[in-house]
Amino acid sequence: MQVFKFGGASVNSVEAIKNMAHIVADHLEEPLVVVVSAMGKTTNLLEKLIPGVPKSEEERKQLITQSKDYHLGIAQQLLPYNDPTLERLHQLFDQLDKTSSQNPTTYNFDYDQTVSFGEIISTTLISGYLNSVGISNKWVDVRQIIRTDENYREGIVDFETTRLQAQDVINSKFKIQNSKLIITQGFIAGTAAGTTTTLGREGSDYSASILSYCLDANSMTIWKDVPGFLNADPKFFANTIKINKIPFNEAIELAYYGASVIHPKTVKPIQNKGIRLNIKSFIDPSAEGSVIGPFESIEPMTPLYIFKNNQLLISIQPKDFSFIAEDNLQTIFAVLAKLNVRVNMMQNSALSFSLCMDYNEILLNQIREKLESHFRLVYNTGLQLITIRYYNQMIIDEIVAGRNIILQQRSRTTTHLLVDSK
Ligand code: ASP
Ligand code: MG
Repeated sequence: MQVFKFGGASVNSVEAIKNMAHIVADHLEEPLVVVVSAMGKTTNLLEKLIPGVPKSEEERKQLITQSKDYHLGIAQQLLPYNDPTLERLHQLFDQLDKTSSQNPTTYNFDYDQTVSFGEIISTTLISGYLNSVGISNKWVDVRQIIRTDENYREGIVDFETTRLQAQDVINSKFKIQNSKLIITQGFIAGTAAGTTTTLGREGSDYSASILSYCLDANSMTIWKDVPGFLNADPKFFANTIKINKIPFNEAIELAYYGASVIHPKTVKPIQNKGIRLNIKSFIDPSAEGSVIGPFESIEPMTPLYIFKNNQLLISIQPKDFSFIAEDNLQTIFAVLAKLNVRVNMMQNSALSFSLCMDYNEILLNQIREKLESHFRLVYNTGLQLITIRYYNQMIIDEIVAGRNIILQQRSRTTTHLLVDSK
């Protein structure tokens, strides 16, 4: 069995969905589970529809119409006029209308109930289309398979329940109902009580990896708009090099530092079972792509670059000029843990502790509120964090190109440079 994941960009138009159908049809020699994200930028639009997010009733209606026109416009070009999928899509938009007009409860709960429509709608459309062109498949509601706790917006997966449910639901479709192809959703999951949760933005890669783990897949493949795992994001870098082989651990490190090609939680489940993860181009599906697997080192060996924009540097100094020692650090870390702050880099001197994080005004204010009675806080915004693995001085000089380095850390293999934006 294999697991494929198609992200929003691979299913954002009539042509894209037809292309995806070709790729799927070419890989049916063994049972296949296909995990699909919301189409195009749908999740961003749905985030505006969450109850409690400020908007007028007219704006709300407009957003629903915009999303409905987009999806039905595509569906009508792909499906015969009397296909029952069209009716089903109308019903889903009616439900979305209802959900988005409800009174707000808590933001995270409302988030998951609203934003999950993106994946339900995309998979309904795609499953219907594939069936209509003879690529016979079963639509599966992944909320009945992937079980999480009630940590809305970032559900924690219960792997044991998920494994049992996955084998039950998916294997019965493959074995008893004799299908070869399952279409299901990325990003969303369900609680024991049956409410919808999500796994965090860009979580569909993780969904595919959870299913690969639970079903003992032979391999997992993420289909992307890039030729594979590149040594830098082509948005920031002109001459990228494709890395053909990436060890599991290296992939985890890169995702942790912010390589956007893969969601940070994705690698661990498949690493545990030694399942290889292919990253391939949906634009050129026969090209080789990259493989994350049980390798010794990356191949070819070349510097790897990760850029994170919009960074915030906070420096924290005890007001009484006491040293930054264990007691002060403990106070600071307790606040960071409580606020769920993801620290991208940290450093301390005798009298000051500095941390770098993604800029977030709400979090910054909460940190200040909690620490300013004992500490003096100064901060800089608009910074860029550059991580280079397998660096040398020439490369650093070239990348920094005269910009002001505010903070730098080096280990044998990795350097982090926090610099002023260009
Ligand atoms: N649709 C979700 C998002 O845009 C999940 C995903 O695409 O992986 O974040
Ligand atoms: Mg996406």
